[in-house]
Amino acid sequence: MKELHDKTLKDYIRIFLACICAVLIAELFFGIFRYATGDFDISQFGNYIWFKALLPSGLNFGVFFVARGFLESPNVKLETKVYMTFGSLCAMCLVTTVAHRDFPSLCAAFILPVVTSAIYGQKKFIRFAFELAIFGITIAFALGIVLGKGDDFDIVTYVIQIYISVMLLVISLFIAMLIRRFVENNSVLIMEGLENQASLKDRVKVDAMTGLINHTAFYDELDRQIRESDRTGETLCISVVDIDNFKSVNDTYGHANGDQVIITLAQIMSDVCKGHIVCRYGGEEFSVIFKNCKRKEAAALMEQVLERFRATEFEWCDHAITFSCGVCQHYDIRTTAEELFMQADKYLYRAKRGGKNQVVSEG
Ligand code: GH3
Ligand code: MG
Ligand code: MG
Repeated sequence: MKELHDKTLKDYIRIFLACICAVLIAELFFGIFRYATGDFDISQFGNYIWFKALLPSGLNFGVFFVARGFLESPNVKLETKVYMTFGSLCAMCLVTTVAHRDFPSLCAAFILPVVTSAIYGQKKFIRFAFELAIFGITIAFALGIVLGKGDDFDIVTYVIQIYISVMLLVISLFIAMLIRRFVENNSVLIMEGLENQASLKDRVKVDAMTGLINHTAFYDELDRQIRESDRTGETLCISVVDIDNFKSVNDTYGHANGDQVIITLAQIMSDVCKGHIVCRYGGEEFSVIFKNCKRKEAAALMEQVLERFRATEFEWCDHAITFSCGVCQHYDIRTTAEELFMQADKYLYRAKRGGKNQVVSEG
């Protein structure tokens, strides 16, 4: 956000410089044109160049260098820099309109700071820019009357044109408010979109029934943990769990009761294996990544899970439900996540072949 503001302020400096140059070129062109068409004699032309072109532009360049000094300084607060942009724009408008008081409609240029303020999306900035612009027009108006006395000065036309400028300024205030509201609503929509995206990403990683991470997230995590273990030398183990005879639980007691068994086992595993990563691998199969844990400790934890699960009584079931489990440790630095899982799965297969309801680990 700060970078965006810094970039906007840098762009503003460029636009400000371009404005001053454009005003100077227009003033010179206008003077030369009037001289060429015989409107000015040589002394009027000289006066014009000094007082209507070079002096105001000199002042504008002065304002520009002061503003640039502030805007490029790392020590000035962002808010101060923003106020500085409005201040310098107003000063430029004031210098230009006073220098060309015979064209009071130039006061309409005071809408520039007000419209600029809208991009910051804050009411306080718009209010400040508007008040500054009103103050600028008032000064320009007063100076126009005081300095314009000697000239061929028509007070009625002057007041009408200033009035039109003030009307334009008020309209620019409403436009700035509209832009601000749009910027604000847009930011809210963007933030909501980002939040939705983040929560969608999280949901894609999580199994809705158990709240455990799912198969895809499991492999991402296992990959990461293997790399971490290879780097730090900490031991890493995994276990693979498969509920025994689950098809017959479903067939006998129904799928809703089957779901209850899956949820219960997920809770027991999360509880006993706190601090490790428990995953619902798929269906009635689970896996745990044991971080900084030796094979014997991992196997002991899985024994605890089995004990608690076996002891769980489901009121609709007249026998204990059990699972089989394989546990292995990551030794070889070249082993991939899939290979490590296959090793654990091999021990799970042995547990099933050995009569189910047991934890089998290597060694
Ligand atoms: P084994 O002891 O050899 O593992 O036998 P099993 O019956 O558990 O194995 P099998 O793979 O034949 O059956 C797994 C069953 O798990 C089949 C499927 O209907 C059931 N299942 C998978 N996901 C869910 C689920 O989310 N809810 C329920 N209720 N059942 C599920
Ligand atoms: Mg299975
Ligand atoms: Mg099974």
